[in-house]
Formats: sequence, structure tokens, C-alpha cells
Amino acid sequence: MRRERVQVVVRCRPLHPREISDGRVSCVTVDTQRSTIQVRNLKNPDMQPKLFTFDRTYGSSSTQREIYDDVAHSIVHSVMCGYNGTILAYGQTASGKTFTMEGLDNPPEMRGIIPNAFEDIFAHIEQSQSSDHFLVRASYLEIYNEEIRDLLSQSTPNQYRLELKENGDAGVYVKNLTSMGKKNRSVGATLMNQDSSRSHSIFSITVETSAGPCSEHPDTEKSVIRVGKLNLVDLAGSERLNKTGATGDRFRELTNINWSLSALGNVISALVDGKNTHIPYRDSKLTRLLQDSLGGNTRTVMVANIGPADYNFDESISTLRYANRAK
Ligand code: ADP
Ligand code: MG
Repeated sequence: MRRERVQVVVRCRPLHPREISDGRVSCVTVDTQRSTIQVRNLKNPDMQPKLFTFDRTYGSSSTQREIYDDVAHSIVHSVMCGYNGTILAYGQTASGKTFTMEGLDNPPEMRGIIPNAFEDIFAHIEQSQSSDHFLVRASYLEIYNEEIRDLLSQSTPNQYRLELKENGDAGVYVKNLTSMGKKNRSVGATLMNQDSSRSHSIFSITVETSAGPCSEHPDTEKSVIRVGKLNLVDLAGSERLNKTGATGDRFRELTNINWSLSALGNVISALVDGKNTHIPYRDSKLTRLLQDSLGGNTRTVMVANIGPADYNFDESISTLRYANRAK
């Protein structure tokens, strides 16, 4: 079993204006030079601060552009060369996952990884030789309570309980999932904005190309059709079950979320460990769907998001531990 490398970065958002007016203070110190994050328990000052090291760390002044360039740019380019890539945003609700993946429409500097990836792909296509052909498709789905829903379908969401299928050539795929031909690059920026904290959403961009060898991957074969798939995953909020005292529907939602996030953690750590011959992809819909795009020759990055405020101490530590296990 080959040991897979998963790149893990942490982004700590700024305090919200609301948190500042509530008198919240930051308990997180980010050292971008050393790629560390230190978290202090302000309620218990005698406790040693907890120190974590990652591939990269980003503090409150990090920009969307910086995150895109460091985290996504080279993956997007390898997708155009026929490789698969996966970028996962992990963290508790309101930690900045959707800000990182989608960002805000305006001003353009606030756009996140998904619209920037589109921009990058279409800019690449425009610059390529006219004899090169590209086909770009996008699909967008969510997993809610272990059910898959098509977010691009015109039908009402309830009609959509999509089935996962598996076949030799196509791998694992979702039956009847709408696949959109992208005619213009603005689509990726405007699709979204529903409350996603209770579901995992997966935005996938597939690029087929007949272009010649890529400069980044000169060894790629000439004159074949290459297909690369990019999965941009905004995970459900990672907050733990015990604290919220949830009952009924919310309890069921949280149980499913906790279950699938731990299944994802198990798959990633099995891949990273390299000693396991069995990778437990089948334990959740999320890991089954991502089966072709985690491990193998896929490049994977996890962006763990945290909030800096003192009242988030426990959840921030839990996010950093989860992220640490994925390294
Ligand atoms: P999540 O998707 O993890 O629930 P959001 O992305 O919706 O969290 O972020 C919560 C709020 O914080 C939003 O208003 C968002 O615009 C803001 N926010 C998140 N990250 C940043 C950041 N790095 N800089 C400025 N604002 C941010
Ligand atoms: Mg969100």
C-alpha cells in the first residue's frame, strides 16, 4: 500500500464584528512562518497552550487570493492535465468553510476557491491552442442524512434521492446527476448560498481535454483524451453532538454528520498511514462518493477552518486534532 500524502492547512478567520462588540477575545496565535497554531485556554490560564504544526497556517489577514494560489492553483492545473484533485473544507459551523470554498460575490477579491477555479480553468482554455479541445462539466450535490440530492436539478429537492452506482469503467458515480455544460465562467459564483451547515456539499468540475502534454506534467501521453476531476467539498459543521443537547431531527442530522466525518477521517488516516490494505470507503456516502478522488494519484488538500474566539476553544482544539490526524 502506497503512503498517500494529504496536505493539511489551517485557516483561522478574524473575529466577527459581533464577537468584538460582545467583548470576545482571540485565544489563537497563528505563526505563518513556522506554520504553527497555538491555542490557549483563557478560562484556565495555568494550562499549557496547545501547539500544532501543519503544512501551512493562515491567520486573520490571509486573503482569498493567497489561499487560492497556495492551496488550489496547482491542483486545478493538474486536473487540466488529467489528474483528480480534492479540496475539503472542514470545521465547525461559522468557522469560514463556505467563505473559503465559495467566498462572497463582491468585491471580486472576496471570491473563494470555486469561482477562482472556474476563472483559472477558462483562462487556461482561452490561452490554449485552437486545435486543443476542452469539455468542462460541473455537478453539484449535497449529502444530507446520508441521502444524495442534486443541487443543480430544476426539480424540487425532495424528488431527488439519487442512487450511488458503481461500474468498472466509471467507478463510483451518482445515477441521474445533472451534469451542466458550463458556457460561462460566472456560473460557479452564483449557484450557491443556501444554508449548508447540516449537509456536505460537493461541487465537482470535470475537464476532458485533447490538448498535448502539460508543462507541469511533461510525461503525460500525447494525443489521448485526458479526464481530470476536481472535487470541492464544503463539509457539514463538525460541532460535536454532546454540547448542543439536540433532539429529534437535529439529533439524527448530527449523528449522521459525526458518523460521516469520522468515516472521512478514518479513510484519510488509513491512506496516510500506508499500512492498511483495507481503506474503509464504504462506511459512508461521503467516502464512497469520494472514493475515486481520495488516494491513488489524486492530490488532496484539507483546509481546516477555525474561529479565534475564546468560546470556540473546545471546538477549535477538536478541529485541529482532526486535521492533525490527516497529515
Ligand atoms: P461556515 O461555512 O464554516 O459555517 P462561513 O463561511 O459561513 O462559515 O463564515 C461565517 C461568517 O464569517 C460569514 O459571515 C463569513 O463571511 C465570515 N468569514 C469567514 N471567514 C472569513 C474570513 N477569512 N475573513 C472575513 N470573514 C470571514
Ligand atoms: Mg457554510
